Amino acid sequence: MTDAQTGSPDVLKPLDEDWETALAVVAHPDDMEFGAAAAVARWTSQGKRVVYCMVTSGEAGIDGMEPEVTRKVRTAEQIESARIVGVDTVEFLGFPDGIVEYGVPLRRVIARMVRVHQPEIVITGNFHPTFPNGFLNQADHIAVGRATVDAVRDAGNRWVFHEAGVEPWGGVRAVWVAGSPEAKHGVDISDTFEAGVASLRAHQAYLDGLGWADFDPAAFLGSMSEPTGARMGVAHATAFEVLSLTFPEE
Ligand SMILES: [Zn+2]
Repeated sequence: MTDAQTGSPDVLKPLDEDWETALAVVAHPDDMEFGAAAAVARWTSQGKRVVYCMVTSGEAGIDGMEPEVTRKVRTAEQIESARIVGVDTVEFLGFPDGIVEYGVPLRRVIARMVRVHQPEIVITGNFHPTFPNGFLNQADHIAVGRATVDAVRDAGNRWVFHEAGVEPWGGVRAVWVAGSPEAKHGVDISDTFEAGVASLRAHQAYLDGLGWADFDPAAFLGSMSEPTGARMGVAHATAFEVLSLTFPEE
């Protein structure tokens, strides 16, 4: 995260905002809201379309609640949190929370989502072993991020996961990875920071279930977006790793 020669924080390059449609594929309800949702709010306010795709319904996420009850609660919370940032389509793929496996079945359904929604940009979550602060990542995040990167390529190949009535889609220009320790790009979220906070607050049952007595969504999100903003000369920013499917990348 620091320049090898000077020790000063790297300056983040602004993300390309010349696009119309994005698809965000993440493991759990709440994954977008723990950092990326304010960026989504910015883009939807610009008239862009963003679709969310949840690989699981987060049914194993609340210790004191039975999974089939949690599934309903968290599905509703995710739909509301998406609405707050201007997202009106949330797909739920129904994989089992906590034990998602990287593999062909997962790539197949994500590739289908890419073909159906035809995004130019695909957003996913960090699939590296740790987060930028060194905190250990979680298995579902790693499986889903890796599968999403591969499914973008699969989606463009007519003969991979060939399915009658669903045309291939090779129009994805980049995959943007939120929460990545390899991020070199960022987006100014100063104007939509509060919408991002509100979208995280919408996961009330989940946050209550965590049992973090003093958890403050605004303080938590600000603790990430303010240092990131400093790397762009703005109040708040969100960083992304860019994996380009066009070249040269710039
Ligand atoms: Zn998660």
